[in-house]
Amino acid sequence: MDAKIVLLPGDGIGPEVTAEAVRVLHAVAQRFGHQFTTSSHLIGGCAIDAHGTALPDDTLAAAKASHAILLGAVGGPKWDSPTAKVRPEQGLLKIRKELGLFANLRPISVVPGLVELSPLKPEIVSGVDILFFRELTGGLYFGESGTRPAKDGSGEESFSTMIYSTGEIERIVRLAAQAARGRRKKVTSVDKANVLEVSRLWRRVFERVMKEEFPDVQSENILVDAAAMYLISRPTSFDVVVTENMFGDILTDEGSMLPGSMGLLPSASLGSSGPGLYEPIHGSAPDIAGQGIANPLATILASAMLLRHSLKLEQEAAAVEAAVHRVLKQGHRTKDLAAKDAPWVKTTAMGDLVIAALGK
Ligand code: NAD
Repeated sequence: MDAKIVLLPGDGIGPEVTAEAVRVLHAVAQRFGHQFTTSSHLIGGCAIDAHGTALPDDTLAAAKASHAILLGAVGGPKWDSPTAKVRPEQGLLKIRKELGLFANLRPISVVPGLVELSPLKPEIVSGVDILFFRELTGGLYFGESGTRPAKDGSGEESFSTMIYSTGEIERIVRLAAQAARGRRKKVTSVDKANVLEVSRLWRRVFERVMKEEFPDVQSENILVDAAAMYLISRPTSFDVVVTENMFGDILTDEGSMLPGSMGLLPSASLGSSGPGLYEPIHGSAPDIAGQGIANPLATILASAMLLRHSLKLEQEAAAVEAAVHRVLKQGHRTKDLAAKDAPWVKTTAMGDLVIAALGK
């Protein structure tokens, strides 16, 4: 197939890790007979330096015209001043909004050879393989909010509202259930239906969509407080988890601790149609930028998600994931994964190893 992929390397280690993922994508194209055309554009701090805005018009236009977008990371101390009018993250928020990316996918799995990195006991985390679907454009972060004189006369009072419509719930539940069909066929919906009216609607819609459209997929509801405990006490019981924006924000960060390293975790943001956005969950790591020691595996795994979800190339996606697992199983580590005083490889060497493992 022919695909146009827009690259947004961004700031800090973003360009270093993106470069390795791009090399892997080109190796996949060569091996499986595809043509991937890539073009690089500015986002975040580097875009502010060049154009005074975190998301230049030409970046957005290129992204809209692409099949998929691969992002590194944005931000860094140079642009961090609390008084700054333009901030790197604005680029991320704007591109998600412009592309209608309402679903954030975060796979969390514990790689067999790396169980010892987890802060939890090996018998608890062995075999963890969870795919989170976090609703990204609704809920408490986007509902009506404000500050007004307090009714009790004590000063001010503030409010934020959590609003979800039937349609917003249906579309993310469908995406999650479709993904479950290609996995272990189980979806857990997380809500707070014992307290929140909006969660009761969420639960009704979830149960109806699952019953009417996905009778072959097992479904369950869990309250968010219980989900926070089960993620630690029995994380292997989850397959696909679907939840609203704020609960997902918190639970995915909790889940990201299970594998013990952020350098291994990718994410994707998808809309109903159009290009998806793929990125590692880590930031721009300014403390190690420019040293060639960043772990590129999260971005390489993000490129595998890009192959799977935007280009529908499942075999190719699985080949990239298998190559990453093979390299780790062989004992190769970047600095962040290596035990104290154990040998480790640099960013480009890790890219070379994954490309070599792809051919096997
Ligand atoms: P961070 O994820 O950049 O770094 C946290 C720690 O993890 C650092 O010690 C870093 O060296 C290490 N680390 C992260 N990724 C790594 C990798 N691939 N290989 C090896 N080590 C890695 O988080 P932070 O330090 O809180 O934030 C730094 C900057 O990144 C900030 O400006 C923040 O706003 C931005 N940020 C951007 C995104 C994004 O672009 N999506 C996400 C989070 C943070």
